[in-house]
Amino acid sequence: MSEMRVSVIPVARMDVEEVEEAANRVARVLGSPILLREAAPVPRGTENFERRQHDASGFLADLRGKMAPLRVTKVIGGDDSAANVPMSSMNATVFVTDLDLYTEKSDGVFAYLSPKFKVGVVSVRRLKEAFHRRKADPSKQRTRLMKEMLRVIARVSGMPKCANPACPISPSKVLPDVDSKEERYCQPCWTRMSTGVSRI
Ligand SMILES: [Zn+2]
Repeated sequence: MSEMRVSVIPVARMDVEEVEEAANRVARVLGSPILLREAAPVPRGTENFERRQHDASGFLADLRGKMAPLRVTKVIGGDDSAANVPMSSMNATVFVTDLDLYTEKSDGVFAYLSPKFKVGVVSVRRLKEAFHRRKADPSKQRTRLMKEMLRVIARVSGMPKCANPACPISPSKVLPDVDSKEERYCQPCWTRMSTGVSRI
């Protein structure tokens, strides 16, 4: 099987350790190394001060414009030679932020993606138990982050949504959707991804 080429980029003050731990688990599922890059700056002009949230579409567009020069700080699940793959040949680039994102159609989103440009962003804000006024549970939060990363990577690299609610590529509308997913792709999706059908 051909390797996936995936970059993961924390945004600003996002906890890098948290991103790295999730990326490690994602790399194991994909069987491909993940390039962790230096943090991207917070987009300007995308914050809605009344909502105290960022417009997801503008946020991702801004990040996309700034990602090219971001250096690889670590190759997760592989050796350093993987770091030489140019940004332009990535199958997927995933930003991770702790800022809250919204779209016109929603109060807030777990992630936002742009398959056209093979980029997406995951926000951990609504993946936190504390956001939902429950006791903090870092382990649960990291598992959710990992699953959302799996979803974004698959979707932006060309996979369609999956109808199996246990598959990470199925929609994540509410938190129980995320929690009921498994930490790996369903068999048909994985077969399709790993045989490169989606990577034309
Ligand atoms: Zn699936």
